[in-house]
Amino acid sequence: MRLKIRCGLVLTVLALELILLCSSGILAEDDTISSPGPMEEQMANPPGLGNPEVHQIAVNVYAVTGLYHPAGDDVGVSAGIIFADNSIVFIDAGMSVASGEFLWQLAEEMMAGDEDLYLILTHRHSDHVFGMRVVKEQGAKVIAHRILKDWFGQMGDRYRQFIVSKMGWDAERGDEILGEVLLFPPDHVIEHDTVLTLDGEEIHVLATPGHLYDELSVYHPNSKTLFAGDAVYQGIPPHTGFGGPEEWRLWISQLERLKQLEIGTVVPGHGKLCSKNEIDRNIACLKDEISKTK
Ligand SMILES: [Zn+2]
Repeated sequence: MRLKIRCGLVLTVLALELILLCSSGILAEDDTISSPGPMEEQMANPPGLGNPEVHQIAVNVYAVTGLYHPAGDDVGVSAGIIFADNSIVFIDAGMSVASGEFLWQLAEEMMAGDEDLYLILTHRHSDHVFGMRVVKEQGAKVIAHRILKDWFGQMGDRYRQFIVSKMGWDAERGDEILGEVLLFPPDHVIEHDTVLTLDGEEIHVLATPGHLYDELSVYHPNSKTLFAGDAVYQGIPPHTGFGGPEEWRLWISQLERLKQLEIGTVVPGHGKLCSKNEIDRNIACLKDEISKTK
């Protein structure tokens, strides 16, 4: 079954790297872009949802691609949902409260209602975490790299303000697109590869630094699905703006490691569902970036 949901037109604009030295003296970064053009006004309601498509990968495994990103459909954000007997695991929450609500409503249609809920955040960037309040307020335990605990603690509401400012939105537009973002520190922190076993269902949370040091990927062996977060981009170059050759070499080593897994479907952080071949393309792009620095 493949349910396709079209919610309107989003225009693609060029992605630009954002790096800001925030007031704490720590580099605040984000995987978003400069302000979209006026044509973005054509985006259908609700603002901040994008063009999500729901993909059923296995009987109990879903991916959503095409969630809102300011750069448009080609950079659409992905998320995942894995159903175990008495537990539901969300993987990432999109960039907006509307994205979080979409993911929650999708799960709600299929849940009994008394499951234990978990939300794994693949990294700290706004486009993967700003929708988290929806699932968190339903009682989900948040699982993320230890760095997110410090990051959310330091940034608080300034992170949302930073994004609104970088997009060139006024407060009203920020509210329309992002909604009332609330960030919650992780309930469980991950620093090394960890296997979660929920009702007999194994979920491997893998530390895959490169894009960011706090990057996690999620592997579900039963369905041979890799939720790669921003370790893998589909169809576009990997976003290398948050590190240099040393980080990119680390990234490549992690991708080489992921390639050893038995993978049927890769759910990239951005783009469409893809195969292992896309991992090779990302490796080639990163090698190319490294060669340009020599
Ligand atoms: Zn991203």
